[in-house]
Amino acid sequence: MVVMQIPGNIDPVPAPRDITPREDGRIDLVGLPKKRIAELFEAAGLDAKAAKLRSKQVFHWLYHRGVTDFEAMTDIAKTMRPWLTERFVIGRPDIVLAQHSNDGTRKWLLRTSDGHEFEMVFIPDADRGTLCVSSQVGCTLNCRFCHTGTMRLVRNLTPGEIVGQVMLARDALGEWPKTGQADLAALGDDLVDDDGGYSADGRLLTNIVMMGMGEPLYNFDNVRDALKLVMDGDGLALSKRRITLSTSGVVPMMAKCGEEIGVNLAVSLHAVSKEVRDEIVPINRKYGLEELLQACSDYPGASNARRITFEYVMLKDKNDSDEDARELVRLIKQYKLPAKVNLIPFNPWPGAIYDCSSPERIRRFSDIVFEAGISAPVRTPRGRDIDAACGQLKTAATRMSRAELDRLAEEKQAALG
Ligand code: SAH
Ligand code: SF4
Repeated sequence: MVVMQIPGNIDPVPAPRDITPREDGRIDLVGLPKKRIAELFEAAGLDAKAAKLRSKQVFHWLYHRGVTDFEAMTDIAKTMRPWLTERFVIGRPDIVLAQHSNDGTRKWLLRTSDGHEFEMVFIPDADRGTLCVSSQVGCTLNCRFCHTGTMRLVRNLTPGEIVGQVMLARDALGEWPKTGQADLAALGDDLVDDDGGYSADGRLLTNIVMMGMGEPLYNFDNVRDALKLVMDGDGLALSKRRITLSTSGVVPMMAKCGEEIGVNLAVSLHAVSKEVRDEIVPINRKYGLEELLQACSDYPGASNARRITFEYVMLKDKNDSDEDARELVRLIKQYKLPAKVNLIPFNPWPGAIYDCSSPERIRRFSDIVFEAGISAPVRTPRGRDIDAACGQLKTAATRMSRAELDRLAEEKQAALG
């Protein structure tokens, strides 16, 4: 597998194609659309009609039942099952480590079949359960407050590795429907699109946020293909209203994201002036604040009912003054954005050069934004004790020195151009 070290432009990371033949020659079906599975069955010798039927059945077992063994597919002829097993597998990322926080948050360290590590986090709340999914191993960007940005090696995750996280979470939470239980897919898209429908049957995993490791809009095709499987009524059948994609501001991909994926958008704003945003979110040097806010204002599907979330990390004496809060309000109003603000207390990591703003400062900032009529809740840090909180994700904890971190930041910023 090729692994790049230095970032480039829009989609700079060499990724394996949708099908990565495994060492044993079998093909992993997870992450492939139904049509692609049918083509593979046909290429392996089934006639077109049989291939189509089998692909439909297998797809249902994969995404609806969570089955990983062809032998369990009871509506497929007994003689057919070994034929499938010889040629195909239903994979999952390997689990290297599973951790439980004392607040109930769970973090998994996962490994791709070619040995790259990445992380996924599950955050249970009273009324919902949110899975924080990674889109890349590491990140080519280098936001100054983010631990993931200090990872040197980067590779895009494949659709199978992305949707595989959701399936693994369902495995771990014991959430696949038992035989005989009502068939959500059979009830059609309408039901799962209805906001209440999904948690009504007591599910733990109700929401997905693309906020793990990586910049999802730098791996657009794979993220789109994976989320299509998550949203497919015959697939994992999760409503697009329950999925949020967070970007640091890859402006040229934002409209495409709204059009082709259609999920909720979160934008890592973090600063309201060019000077500060250039420093802490370096992609700002390429796509500035005005362009970014214009892209938000143009985001397909954004409305008062489906607001854009602006994430704002609270960094002491950097971006947390009353003036910053007022400027934030001004910008949101100037661009007439249907927006809410999510204030994130900075989560520290070894070598970070920032401190978190004081609770009083965060409260005051939040009040100013609230008083202007814009919702600005403070996000409670979750899973800090197991380094699962925002911006703490980083695998293979190679402790870099300050000088090494600075050099890496320079390299990545130079590559942004
Ligand atoms: N790459 C995407 C999504 C992943 S990061 C993005 O940047 O939007 C998810 C959120 O956590 C982002 O808003 C990110 O800026 C924020 N974050 C990163 N490091 C953090 C830290 N140390 N403390 C708090 N939030 C952090
Ligand atoms: Fe990458 Fe997001 Fe971290 Fe920035 S905040 S380095 S874009 S993961």
